[in-house]
This record gives sequence, C-alpha cells and structure tokens, in this order.
Amino acid sequence: MISKHTILSRFGYQAYRPLQEEAIDALCSGNDVLLMAPTGGGKSLVYQSAGLIRDGIGIIISPLLSLMAQQVETLRKTGVNAYFFNSALNIEEQDDLVWALRHDQVDLLFMSPEKIVQPAVIGFLKDIQISIFAIDEAHCIAQWGEAFRPEYSQLGTLRTTFPKVPIIALTGTVDLKTIQTIENSLQISGCLLLKNSFDRVNIEIQIAQKRKAKQQILYFLHHEMAGEKGIIYCRSRKKTQELASWLESLGLTSLPYHAAMQEQDKQKHHQRFLNEPGVIMVATTAYGMGIDVPDIRFVIHFDLPSSPEAYFQEVGRAGRDGKPAKSLLLYGLQDMLQAQQFGDGENYERLSALFKVLESRGCRRKNLLSHFGEEIAPCGHCDRCLSPSSEQNATIAAQKILSLIYYTKGIQPFSVLVDVLLGKHNKGVMKIHGETLSLFGKGREFTDIQWKAVIRHLIGFGYIKVDHSTTFCVHLNQKAKRVLKGEEQILLPHERYYPVLDENALHK
Ligand code: ADP
Ligand code: ZN
Repeated sequence: MISKHTILSRFGYQAYRPLQEEAIDALCSGNDVLLMAPTGGGKSLVYQSAGLIRDGIGIIISPLLSLMAQQVETLRKTGVNAYFFNSALNIEEQDDLVWALRHDQVDLLFMSPEKIVQPAVIGFLKDIQISIFAIDEAHCIAQWGEAFRPEYSQLGTLRTTFPKVPIIALTGTVDLKTIQTIENSLQISGCLLLKNSFDRVNIEIQIAQKRKAKQQILYFLHHEMAGEKGIIYCRSRKKTQELASWLESLGLTSLPYHAAMQEQDKQKHHQRFLNEPGVIMVATTAYGMGIDVPDIRFVIHFDLPSSPEAYFQEVGRAGRDGKPAKSLLLYGLQDMLQAQQFGDGENYERLSALFKVLESRGCRRKNLLSHFGEEIAPCGHCDRCLSPSSEQNATIAAQKILSLIYYTKGIQPFSVLVDVLLGKHNKGVMKIHGETLSLFGKGREFTDIQWKAVIRHLIGFGYIKVDHSTTFCVHLNQKAKRVLKGEEQILLPHERYYPVLDENALHK
C-alpha cells in the first residue's frame, strides 16, 4: 500500500493542504465526500491520492475529454498508471487498456459519464476491485441534468451497484440547492461536506482610481513586478492589441490574446506565455478558461470585470503555485457607466454586485469574500489594509450632487454636474445655464476626482440608478431621499490615486 507521504514526494509537493487531507482521510475510511473548492483549489490531488492509497482502481468521471487526456499524461510522467476510457480511444488504445486491466496495471481510470452508465461497462466493473469513484465537475448534475448530458443524473446507479465503494463529488462554488441536488442524485446524503475557503491569501489585492491608466500600469510593471509574468485584462480586442504593442515598444515582452485571433496565433501566444519568463499577456477574458499556468505573478484589470465572480476568477489565475502574487484593478466612474451601458440586462445585476464590492469601505478581501458568504478578518495586505486612509463624512457632498441631479431632471452627464459644483465656466456648464443654479461653485471643498468618488458610491450602493436604455437618465431611489432629508449618512474612504510612471522617464 502506498502512503500519503510517498504520493506527496512523487508529485513534488511539500504537504497536503488541510482540506485535501481531510477529504482523503474520509475517503480512506470509507466515507463519501462532497468537496467544494474554487478552480485551482487542488481538487485533483484529493481523488488521485485516495484512489492510489485504497486498494483497487480509482475511477474518475469527468465530462471533458481534453482535461482527462491532460491529467492522464501528467500522471504518467510521475509514474502513475493512469488511463482513460472514452469514445476517443482507437482499437489499439482499447486493447492496451484491456490488457492493463487484466494484468492489474491500472491505478486510476478516467471515464466520461456516458461510458460508465453503459450496462456493459457497469457489468465489467463489477468484476474488478474499485478504490473510489470521483465525480468531477459534479455541478453538471444540477446544471445539465436531463437535457444535455442525461448520464450525469444516472450516476446514482454507482451507489446502488457498488454500495461499498466511497464516492467523492467535486465542484466549484455552488449554492445550497445545487449541493442538495448533487447529494440526492448521487445518493450520498450524509456525506462529509467540505468547503474550501475562497481566500487566496498569497494574492495581494489592490484596487485604485484610474488616472492615466497606461502610465499607472507602467508604474506597476516597473516598481512592483519588474520582469515578472502576468496578465492584463482588457474589455475590447482592439485594446489588447494596442496595449500590447505599446508595452512592446517600451521593451516589455507582451502578447495580445482575444477570441478573434487565428487559432494558431492563440496557441503560439499561450505557449510562449507558459514557457518564457517575464511575458505579459494582454488579453480579453477569452484567455482564462482551462489555462493552468502556475507562475503567473500578477493580474491587472485595465477594465472592469463583469461580476464579482469573474473578478475573483480572473485574479485567481495569479499565484497558483502558492507564491506571493499581486492584483491591481483600475477603474473610475466612466468605466462603471460604460460597463453598464454595454452589458446586457442580466449583466446589470451582476455589475451592481461588483460595484458594491468595489465601493465598500474597509478591507478589499473582506468585501470580496463577503460577497461569497465568507466572513474573514481584515487581511492585512490589500491596499486598504496596507495604508488605511481615514474616512470622511460625505453626506453634505452627497446631498449637493443629489439635489443637482434632481434640479437637472437627471439628464445631464455627471461630468457637467461636477463642473457646476466646481464653478467652472466651460461649454458644458454654459449650455445648461449652470451658472444660474444655486449650487454653482458650491462644491469647491472637493476635487473633481473626489466628486466622482461620491457619485460612484451613490451608484454602488443603489442611491441612484443610471438608466441607459434610451438616453442617459439618472433616477433617485428611495434611499437618496433619506440622504436628502439627512436621515442617512454617507461615509467614504479618502480617494487615493495609484502612482504613474511616464514612458518618457524610461529613456532617460
Ligand atoms: P482544481 O482541480 O481544484 O482546479 P488542481 O488540482 O488543478 O485544482 O490544483 C491547482 C494547483 O494547485 C495545481 O497547480 C497543483 O499543482 C497545485 N497543488 C495542489 N495541491 C497542492 C499541494 N498540496 N501543495 C502545493 N501545490 C498544490
Ligand atoms: Zn485587506
């Protein structure tokens, strides 16, 4: 029998993560497990280990052929007898597998759900010893159910046919209802439910007001992450190309990546990113799904992600090797409005949730994780924890801007309203006769950027709602009325810019 220790050293790891060990121990003593952890949470090692430690063949049910093939290849390199059994096998490979099974040469066997529910396959498995069943991507049971991959919902036969073999279901984040569907469907109610913390403690979170974003990125690349490998996420394909060439012109190795690129170029860029040190990938979200590059040291958001989930996932691509990594998100009021305008209806809710995370006071990580229902203490290494800024009471400022929105019927751009408050005599202000408004010049206690921060906060917490459906129009919600009446206070953190580095300074 192989020990946990041997497996660790064979795979080149120092130790199991606490949750991995708990899951493995439960399986080894014959219990069922439902393990919930985000991508990169180390789920594979759990079923691989338990499958190897217990006597018999570990059977892993996985929906994606490509992932199966990749895992089998990696496992074989470490000397594990791993095989897969799916419709992609040719005759020769099938013969190989049958031979190996007959001669007890199989440690782990990967299968598609379609294969395992076939009566002939079940019949065959009855005659061999099985160590565990692992159902990867178990959320598919609830998500696809009958419609797309009906076999997923037939996996309950595993429990009835092999009552003594422990089952582990593995999934990313799912809600309680999905957990119950999975448990019922697999007949594993009473299983040990393990939930990984979503906290990726090795990633430092920085979120900052955008100003000359390219120069801010340059500062980050030179002063925080010189020579390191990382991803810069942009919203548009054009931007990825422009930013990549700009960085390239400054002597930084950068590659664009987006969905409309030729398949071969995408492959080439991915390979270079994977294999070369210090490459910067400037990508749309098309780059991400299924990539496993362990040594990504940073992730920058040049544009807003589409939801807290997307933000979390994109940031989580950094530091998968567990070493320190950093993330930087740059945004401003304009980005919020654009994201709302170009997102579809469903996205509106998800964006609102993101805005709330971004606009909340206090520790960034605490704010983000609390969106996922996890409560943590302030992290000590996000921008807020590292330099706690005093908060200011912005209630009067909020009242001023809300009144202005009211007087101008919500149809004037925020930038014009801010100029009115600052008492500027420019075109936009003249056009709406801003100088005749009683609030003209009555907001000089704040800078332009501070005013925008107040507006962001009002949007983020639902005091106002921006309607983009026909023309730009701002509505005051019930909450706004409470602020106007002085029944509710508005507290804001002091705004701080992320520093800039001018490209001209580089050549000196
Ligand atoms: P998941 O299947 O949950 O997405 P993986 O099993 O692919 O996660 O693991 C994610 C990363 O974590 C991989 O790069 C893997 O090598 C690494 N990893 C897993 N377990 C450990 C461990 N105990 N110690 C160090 N690294 C680990
Ligand atoms: Zn923090």
